[in-house]
Amino acid sequence: MHALVIASNNKHKVEEIRQLFHEHHLSIQLQTMQDIDCYDDIAETAETIEGNASLKSLYIADKFMMNCFADDTGLLVDALAGAPGVYSARYAGEQKSDADNCNKLLKELEISTNRQAHFKTVISLQWNKKEYLFEGIIHGTIADSPRGNNGFGYDPLFIPRGETKTFAEMTHSEKNKMSHRAIAVNKLLTFLKTVL
Ligand code: IMP
Repeated sequence: MHALVIASNNKHKVEEIRQLFHEHHLSIQLQTMQDIDCYDDIAETAETIEGNASLKSLYIADKFMMNCFADDTGLLVDALAGAPGVYSARYAGEQKSDADNCNKLLKELEISTNRQAHFKTVISLQWNKKEYLFEGIIHGTIADSPRGNNGFGYDPLFIPRGETKTFAEMTHSEKNKMSHRAIAVNKLLTFLKTVL
C-alpha cells in the first residue's frame, strides 16, 4: 500500500474525494491531515487557483516528506469578470461563512441577467518529488436564491448545465458523478493507475 495524504482540512472535500477513491481499487491508503498529526492552517496566498493548490501540496510534501495532493477550487462568474475566483473562500470577508459568501454573490448579481458561471478545481499532486496538475471544470448557472441542504460552499446556488437541481439539492453521489472535483479526481486516479 502507498500512503497518500489529502492536504485539506475541509471535511466535505475529503468525503467527496474518499468516495471517488473508494470506487476504484487502488493500492493507496488515503491519509488526512489529522492522520499525520498536521493541524497547520496553510495560508492560501497565491494569486491563482493552480498556485494555491501547489502551495498546499508542497507544504505537506516538504514538511512530512510524503506523497500528497491538494485541491483548490474557485467559482468563476461571467457577469463578475470571473469573481470570486481565487478569492471564493473569503469573498464576503476573512471570517465569513458559506452563507455570507452566497448572499454576497446574490447581491452582486441582483441587477444581472447573465447568471453563467463555472467551478474550477485544480489538484496538485506531489508524487515522488514531482508535481502533476489535474483540472476539472463544470459550467452552469447561479440560482436566484439558495436551494438545498447538502454539500457546502456555493452548492446551494450552483445549477450544473443540463440540470434543474442545485448541487445542494443533489445527493452526494449525484454531485460526485459530474462535479468539477470529480472530473479532476478522476484524472488523478487515471494517473495513479499508471504509476502504481
Ligand atoms: P477552497 O478550494 O477550499 O479554497 O475553496 C474555495 C471556496 O469555494 C470556498 O468558499 C469553498 O466553500 C468553495 N467551494 C469549494 N469547492 C466547492 C464545491 O464543490 N461546491 C461549492 N463550493 C465549493
